[in-house]
Order: sequence, then structure tokens, then C-alpha cells
Amino acid sequence: MALTLVFAEAETDELSQQAGVFAAGLGDDLHAVAFDPAEAYAPAAWAQTLVELAQERGAGAIVGPGTDRGNEVLAHVAAKLDQPMAANCTQVIPGDPVTVVRTRWGGSLLEEAQVHGSPLVLTAAAHAVAAAPLAEVEIVTVAAAATELDRMVRVVERIPAASAGVSLADADVVVSGGRGVGSAEGFSVIEELAALLGGAVGCSRAVTSAGWRPHTDQVGQTGTKVSPEIYIACGISGATQHMAGCKGAKRLLAINPDGEASIFASADYAVIGDLHAVVPAISAEIRKVRGT
Ligand SMILES: Cc1cc2nc3c(=O)[nH]c(=O)nc-3n(C[C@H](O)[C@H](O)[C@H](O)COP(=O)(O)OP(=O)(O)OC[C@H]3O[C@@H](n4cnc5c(N)ncnc54)[C@H](O)[C@@H]3O)c2cc1C
Repeated sequence: MALTLVFAEAETDELSQQAGVFAAGLGDDLHAVAFDPAEAYAPAAWAQTLVELAQERGAGAIVGPGTDRGNEVLAHVAAKLDQPMAANCTQVIPGDPVTVVRTRWGGSLLEEAQVHGSPLVLTAAAHAVAAAPLAEVEIVTVAAAATELDRMVRVVERIPAASAGVSLADADVVVSGGRGVGSAEGFSVIEELAALLGGAVGCSRAVTSAGWRPHTDQVGQTGTKVSPEIYIACGISGATQHMAGCKGAKRLLAINPDGEASIFASADYAVIGDLHAVVPAISAEIRKVRGT
């Protein structure tokens, strides 16, 4: 492949470096592009810049990291070029058409697919290859050519997540609630148990969609991936997209009145019952044992 353009979120970012190593396997001429960190993130505008650079330089492939931003920007690139995009690839096998292996279903399966399109647009799955410094990184300021429409969706303000105590991603104990919790107020029993165990509160997407908890608490394919010593799933059915986020847990305790719920297939410990009775009972027992 003549030239490969790498979209680097930041030149020092490990996943962008991995994408660079991945892209290096596609051709001999590699151009890595990182955007000025002072620029507001604007996916369509950044994509427009990449499209213009790719066209100017005759790129045969445009590669990015398989991160939220990498996938978003390259999806815009593909749409602007009217080409397909292969996300989260672990392998590219050259040929006509090119064959890619990519992760699907939150990493639960690998798919082999042929990509008919030029330039090739793809993102590299995290940790598919070891990172190495990007040799030549050009810092690009978002091109003035990007239209107002391209800049319409952009970051205008950053508000740090209001977090108390241990973070979800690092917690040794995660007490997570699903639709079965029933309401935002219902989470008080989940919060109480998490606090007693020095853990963090998580939730399913049904909960964030209902507005009961912020998205930062969501565990799953489109949320945080957790790997605690124990994951306590309360009122969660065990959908594939949720399990993609907690399959790294060493142990899983599921509390659900439906003995047929699929979460029990992944559980080490099961309590078939109503979380509103079971969770306060666990908290009360902990208090009793501790004498508090
Ligand atoms: C592209 C895509 C990405 C997605 N990403 C995510 C993601 O990142 N994270 C995620 O979680 N989901 C994700 N989803 C949604 C996912 O498919 C499920 O819809 C969601 O996980 C269901 O949440 P839930 O288990 O809380 O709700 P439900 O599936 O409705 O399950 C609720 C459970 O609560 C139980 N219950 C009811 N009452 C009680 C009670 N009193 N005590 C105890 N248990 C009770 C019920 O028996 C049931 O099993 C995604 C979906 C798509 C299509």
C-alpha cells in the first residue's frame, strides 16, 4: 500500500502508538497525524482534515486507534469518502480485497471479513500489537476548511465526573444495579452495600437510559470495563453487552428473582430473590459482624 495515514489521538498515547505499529504493517510510507491538543474535539471537522490530507497525499489506508474517538472520527472519514469502515481490527491480511479480523460483541467473538473499498479505513483494536513510538507525527490544527456544519458537534465544556471514593475501573468490589432496582432512589441500598465494602457503584444501560444514574457508572460494552475481585450484580439480566464489561471480574454474585436469568450462567454465587430484601440483609449482616 503506497501511503498509510494514522490518526493519533495524541502522539504519546499508547493506543495511538499501537495503531501506528499496526498501520506500519500495511505499507512502507507512514504519516501519523495528531491534532493540536488545544483544539476542541469536533469529530466531523477532524475527519474533514484527515480526508483532505489523505486525498492530498494519495493515502491507500487511513488507520486510527479503536477508541471511542478513533472509531467516531474514522466513521466520519468513511462516510465522507463513501467507503466502508472496519472497526477494532486485530489483524489485516493484504489482498484484493483486504481481509480483516476484528472483535465483535464487546470482544466476545472474532469476525473475519473482506473490505471492498479504497482507501481502506480501519481502526486497530486495543492491545492487538505492542506499542512503539510514532516515528513521524505531524501536529495538525483543525483545518479552517471544515464547514460550520462539521464544527456543529464539538466539545464546548468539560465537567469532571463527581466521584466519591474509589473509581469504578479500579475498584476491588463493584456493586452494580440494573432495571430490577426500579428507580433512582432504589439505588440507596446498592450505595450502602458498596460503601460498607469499600467498593464502587456500577449499573446497566437500562439504568443510565432511564436517567437513574450517570453514564460514568455504566458497565458494559459501551460503558466501563471492570475487573474487581467481586462483582455483585443486582437486578441485572446478564445481556451480552453488559457481560462484556464485567467478564474480567474474578467472581460474580448475582441477585435476581428470575432463576432463568442468563446472568446466572456466568455467576459463581447466586441468590434467587428480591434485591430489595437481599441487599439490605447483606448490609445488616456485615454491620452485625463488624459490630457497627
Ligand atoms: C449496541 C449496544 C450496546 C449496549 N451496551 C450496553 C452496556 O454497555 N451496558 C449494559 O448494561 N447494557 C448495554 N446494552 C443494553 C443491553 O442489551 C441490555 O438491554 C441491558 O444490559 C439490560 O439491562 P438490565 O439487565 O438492567 O435490564 P433487564 O434486561 O430488563 O433486566 C432486569 C432484571 O432485573 C430482574 N429484577 C426485576 N425485579 C427485581 C428485583 N426486585 N430484584 C432483583 N432483580 C430483579 C429481572 O428478573 C431482570 O432479569 C447495549 C445494547 C446495545 C444494542
